[in-house]
Amino acid sequence: MPSIVVTGGAGFLGSHLCDTLIAGDAKVICVDNFFTGQKKNIEHLRQNPNFKLLEHDIVEPLELSGIDQIYNLACPASPVHYQHDPIKTVQTSTVGMVNMLNLAEKNKARLLQASTSEIYGDPEVHPQPEEYWGNVNPIGERSCYDEGKRVAETLCLDYHREKGVEVRIARIFNTYGPRMHPNDGRVVSNFIVQTIQNQPITIYGDGSQTRSFCYVDDLITGLVALMNQDQTTGPINLGNPEELTIKRLAELITAQIESTSSIVYQALPEDDPKQRQPDITKATDILAWQPVTSLSAGLPQTIEYFTSLKL
Ligand code: NAD
Ligand code: UDP
Repeated sequence: MPSIVVTGGAGFLGSHLCDTLIAGDAKVICVDNFFTGQKKNIEHLRQNPNFKLLEHDIVEPLELSGIDQIYNLACPASPVHYQHDPIKTVQTSTVGMVNMLNLAEKNKARLLQASTSEIYGDPEVHPQPEEYWGNVNPIGERSCYDEGKRVAETLCLDYHREKGVEVRIARIFNTYGPRMHPNDGRVVSNFIVQTIQNQPITIYGDGSQTRSFCYVDDLITGLVALMNQDQTTGPINLGNPEELTIKRLAELITAQIESTSSIVYQALPEDDPKQRQPDITKATDILAWQPVTSLSAGLPQTIEYFTSLKL
C-alpha cells in the first residue's frame, strides 16, 4: 500500500484528492495549516485507519519516512486569500516548495506540484499551450501568487536536474465544485452564494473577460493520471476548454436559482487576465485524459452543495 502525502489536503481540491487516494487503497498523510482549509472537508476521513492528519505549515521543514508520493497543493488559491498575506504566499511557494522537494529527495518519493494557469499571466497567446512562457507582471498584487508558482516550477525542475528528484507539474486551470469555501472570493462560489442569499451579483469589469471552468472530479482524475505516468517531467495543462465570459457565467447561475439578486458592476482588479483557455492536447495525448463534466452538469451539483450549507 503506497504512502502518499497531500499538502493542502484539507482544502477544496486537496480533500477530494484525499478521498480518491483513500478509495484507491493508499495511506494518506494530509498536511495542512488550516489557513483556508476546513476540518469539515476531511471529517469523514478522520476515523479511517489509512488517513492521518498532520497540522503543519510547509514553510517549516517536515521530517517523514516511508513516503512514496507527495502531492504539493498547499497554497491559498483565491486572490482574496493569497493577497491577504502576500509575503507568506511567496514563502509557501518557495520555502515551502524547497521543504517538500527535500522531503521527496530524502524519501526517493515522486512529487507532483499543483501549479496554475496563472503562470501564463494575462496571456497574449490563446488558448494557452505549455510552451507559452506567459505575460506576468512581476511587481503587481497578483505577483505573490503568479511569480511564487513560477519559482516553484523552477525549483521542481532544478531539483530534478541537480538531484534526480522525480517531479510532475500540473498547470491547473479554474476549477469549481463542492467544498469550495463559501467566502473564498472566487467567481463561481461568489456568484452562487450571492444568488442564494438574494445579494447583488458582483461582476468585476464589464464581464467580457473569459475563463474556462473544470469540474473538480475531472481535475482530480487528471492529477492522479499525471502523477502516475512515466513519459514526462514537464508541465501539463489540466482544465476544461469550455470557455465563456464571466457575464455568461452569471446568467447560467442565476437561471438555476430562484432569487431576487440583480447584477452590479464593480472595478476590475489589477492585472485581471482578459482571457483564459487551456490547450489540453498534451494531457489528451500523454494521459489519455479529458474532462467529461460540462458546466451544465457541474454547476447544479455545486449549487446543491452551497444550498445544503444553509448559509
Ligand atoms: P484551497 O485554498 O481550498 O486549498 C489550499 C490548502 O492549502 C488549504 O487547505 C490551506 O489551509 C492549505 N495551506 C495554505 N498554505 C499552507 C501552508 N503554508 N502550509 C500548509 N498548508 C497550507 O485551494 P484549492 O483550490 O484547493 O487549491 C489547491 C492547490 O491547487 C493550490 O496550490 C492552488 O494554487 C492550486 N490551484 C487551484 C486552482 C483552482 O481553480 N482551484 C487553479 C490553479 C491552481
Ligand atoms: N470575478 C467577478 N466577480 C467576483 C469574483 C470574480 O467578476 O465576485 C471575476 C474576476 O475578476 C476574474 C474572473 O471572475 O475575471 C475569475 O476570478 P477568480 O478569482 O475566480 O479566478 P482567477 O481570476 O484567479 O482566474
